[in-house]
Amino acid sequence: MKESIDLAIIGAGIAGVSASVYAKRAGLEFALFEPKVVGGQLLLMESVDNYTGVSLGTKARDLASELSDTLKKLEIEVIPEEISKFEVSGKQVKLHTQEGVTSANAAIIATGASFRRLGIAREGELTGLGVSYCAICDGFFFKNKTVAVVGGGNTAVEEAIYLSNICSKVYLIHRRKDLRAIEYLQKELFHKGNVEVIFDTVVESLNGKENLTGINIKNVLTGKTNTLASNGLFVAIGVIPNTCIFKDAVELDESGFIATDEEMKTNCNFVWAAGDCRKRPLRQLITAASEGAISAVGAYKYLKGGYISA
Ligand SMILES: Cc1cc2nc3c(=O)[nH]c(=O)nc-3n(C[C@H](O)[C@H](O)[C@H](O)COP(=O)(O)OP(=O)(O)OC[C@H]3O[C@@H](n4cnc5c(N)ncnc54)[C@H](O)[C@@H]3O)c2cc1C
Repeated sequence: MKESIDLAIIGAGIAGVSASVYAKRAGLEFALFEPKVVGGQLLLMESVDNYTGVSLGTKARDLASELSDTLKKLEIEVIPEEISKFEVSGKQVKLHTQEGVTSANAAIIATGASFRRLGIAREGELTGLGVSYCAICDGFFFKNKTVAVVGGGNTAVEEAIYLSNICSKVYLIHRRKDLRAIEYLQKELFHKGNVEVIFDTVVESLNGKENLTGINIKNVLTGKTNTLASNGLFVAIGVIPNTCIFKDAVELDESGFIATDEEMKTNCNFVWAAGDCRKRPLRQLITAASEGAISAVGAYKYLKGGYISA
């Protein structure tokens, strides 16, 4: 790992890869950090929707492989390290990894977002053994079985509808008395004969040794407890941006997303943010990819004092 570089790109989801492509073609000297497989959230989904120019039904894993191939073709090396600490120091940033510290004159943060967890006992242990955060990815494994979804927003209701077409029975457990999902989704949900919505209720604990077998729930108004026999539990209670290590370096909003201007620049003059880690109205592949490109152009302008020509 070099001690000093021009630009650090953190994360190789679609935003970080897109930023890297633009940075490479602009001739910037940069390092791309990614501790996991290239593709980020693409590895959690089944097929790619809403991405203009990509064939309908394209497998998300195939797109992730394409991203990886693009990096190889452009001879962009992925440094397989997680940034554990990020500091602004004078006119540079300092990036800490297990291997040491690198200084960079500019940085693009593209660390994406993760699913919010329930935070109950054995949730981690049973993840992949019944507990899931993605109905599209894992729903298939619960064909003709009973599952529960936790949450009350659009994602939770969408997941419950999706699962109702695969599973024999779907419980939707929500801690409040009303769902927050948009009207038409609620309408569709309530038309499903095999979905039961349980309001004012939280999940307290999980049963099952090797696999999930049941969910212990509690009504928050009456205190009454109950056990639902269920093979699956889909947690759909929101996403949290992967921005914890940046909180002292750049401005975050109240939910932890990085605030930027429309050129993706943060309140630090030489730090940009792109994709799901950033405060934005639409968390999708197409917006993440374009923000990666815009951020690389911004970094180029800052570092070289000009525009990337097409
Ligand atoms: C189940 C599911 C289905 C979806 N379906 C669609 C769809 O059909 N169409 C669509 O347009 N969008 C879809 N989305 C949304 C889309 O996937 C995201 O908006 C997009 O992938 C975000 O890309 P990103 O590069 O910003 O972040 P991510 O894909 O989250 O990538 C961030 C990367 O940063 C890395 N990273 C994190 N922290 C660090 C660190 N400290 N150091 C180094 N690296 C780090 C992570 O390992 C990760 O690889 C879906 C999302 C999910 C979860």
